Amino acid sequence: MSGIDPLAFIILSTALGTLCAFVLFVLGSGLVRDINGLGHWGAACITMAAAAFLFALRGTIPVFLSSFLPNLLVAAGVIAMHASLTEFGGWEVKRAPLFLLAGVAGLALTWSTFVQDDYRVRVIIMSSTLTALFIACARLIIRLKEKGFAERLTAFVFLATSVVMLARCLAAFFQDSGLTLNTDTSLVHSIYMGTFPFSLVALSVGFMLMVNRAMQMKLEFLATRDQMTGVYRRDAILSLLEQTLVESQLARRPMSVLIMDLDDFKDINDRHGHLAGDRVIIDFSSKVLNILRRGDTIGRYGGEEFLVLLPGATKEDAYAVADRIRTMAREVSSKEIPAYTVSIGVASLLPGHTDSVTLIDVADKALYAAKKAGKNHVKLAYHPL
Ligand code: GH3
Ligand code: MG
Ligand code: MG
Repeated sequence: MSGIDPLAFIILSTALGTLCAFVLFVLGSGLVRDINGLGHWGAACITMAAAAFLFALRGTIPVFLSSFLPNLLVAAGVIAMHASLTEFGGWEVKRAPLFLLAGVAGLALTWSTFVQDDYRVRVIIMSSTLTALFIACARLIIRLKEKGFAERLTAFVFLATSVVMLARCLAAFFQDSGLTLNTDTSLVHSIYMGTFPFSLVALSVGFMLMVNRAMQMKLEFLATRDQMTGVYRRDAILSLLEQTLVESQLARRPMSVLIMDLDDFKDINDRHGHLAGDRVIIDFSSKVLNILRRGDTIGRYGGEEFLVLLPGATKEDAYAVADRIRTMAREVSSKEIPAYTVSIGVASLLPGHTDSVTLIDVADKALYAAKKAGKNHVKLAYHPL
C-alpha cells in the first residue's frame, strides 16, 4: 500500500466521479424516466468528486478548504446516495434523521477544527458518522423486494466500506494524540483515504447496474402487459401457456386452464357507458390477481375474456379456484363499478398429447356450456383425449 499514492487515487476519483454523474444525469433525463433516484446519485457523485478534489489540494490551500469542507461534502454525498436509494425503492424520503446525524457531526467537526484543534477527534467523528451512513444505505438495498447480482454487489460495497470506516474509527483511539493530518502516514489512514475513490466508483457502477436491471424489468413489463389491467397480454399469455404445457408434460405434473368471459357485457356498456365497462374489466382482473397463488398467471385473452394458467392444478383444484373467482366477481367493490358476473370454462391437461390449441378449444366449449346453463356458472370441459 505504501507504494500507492492516495492522492493519485483521489485525483482519479474526481474524474471518475464526474464521469459517473454525467452518465447518471443523461440516463435520468432521457431513457429511464420511470426509474427514480438517478438525479440524487448524480448529485452524490459530483459532491464526492468535489470533496476528493479538495482533499487532493491538501497542503496548498487552507485546512478549512482541504479538510473541513470536503469532510462535510463526503457526508452530504452519502446522504444524497441514501435519498437516491429511497427514491429508487419507491419509499417516502425521510431526511430528518440523516440530516440530524450530519448536523451533529458537522457541529462536532467545527468544534474540533476551530475551537479545540484535534485531528484524532475529527477522524473519529467523520469515520463513525460515515459508518452509520453507509450502513443505512446498505439497509435500504437489503429492503428492496427484487434483488439480483447488482443489488447484492452494491449492498456488499456499502457494507465493506462501512467496515473500513469503522476500522479507521477504532484505530484512531490508539494513535498518537499529537498526530496531525500532514503527519499521519499510517497504513490505516492510507486505506481510509483510498477507500473513498474506490467505493465511489464501485458503488456508482453497482447503482448503474441496478438501474439497468430495473429498466430491463420495466421494458419487459411494458412489452408483455395489457395497459389497462396490467395483466399479461394475449400473445404473452399464449406463449406462457406453451411453456407451462411443455414443462408440465415433461414433469408429468397436472395443469389446468380457465377461460373466463364476463356476462352480458354489451348490456353493461349500454346501460352504464364504456368507461364504467372499463372499470369492471379492471376490477375483475384485480380480484382474480388477489385470488391466484404464486405461479398462477392471468392474461387478457380478448376484450372481456381472460385466460388463467394453473400449473400443478388438477381439474378439481381448478374448479375450486374458478368457483372462488365466480363468487368474488359478484361481490360489489364500489358504487362506481356496476354489478357483474362471470362464466368460466375449465380444462385440464390429461396424460397423452394435449397441445395448447386443443386445451383452449375444450376450455372454450366448457365456457359455452356455462353460458348456456344461464351464465354465472363454472363448467368442466369434456375432454376428448
Ligand atoms: P355474454 O354473456 O354472452 O358474454 O354476452 P356479452 O354481452 O358479454 O357478449 P360478448 O362477450 O360477445 O361481448 C363483449 C363486449 O365487450 C363487446 C365489446 O363491446 C365489449 N368490450 C370489449 N372490450 C372492451 C373494453 O376494453 N372495454 C369495454 N368497456 N368494453 C369492451
Ligand atoms: Mg366475450
Ligand atoms: Mg361476455
